Amino acid sequence: MTAVPAWEPHRPRSPRPIRSIELSCCSAYEWCSEGGLYFVLRRAGDGYEETGRGIYARAREVWDELTEEHARRHRLAKSKDL
Ligand SMILES: [Zn+2]
Repeated sequence: MTAVPAWEPHRPRSPRPIRSIELSCCSAYEWCSEGGLYFVLRRAGDGYEETGRGIYARAREVWDELTEEHARRHRLAKSKDL
């Protein structure tokens, strides 16, 4: 189990647009890449927050942890509505 790093406000760091690759269950999280690095994006108020920015393998561990936690909450709620 990987500890999820702190969320921080998302700021694009490259002149190229970020690439959204995958949406998690309920669109809770977005798997993105920018400039060869990967990270997880989530909506926060009017903007976005990101976490886990890094190489694919490391960022993907954070993604897996977050999406598994999301799935656990579904199982606890025994419902598709969170
Ligand atoms: Zn869901």
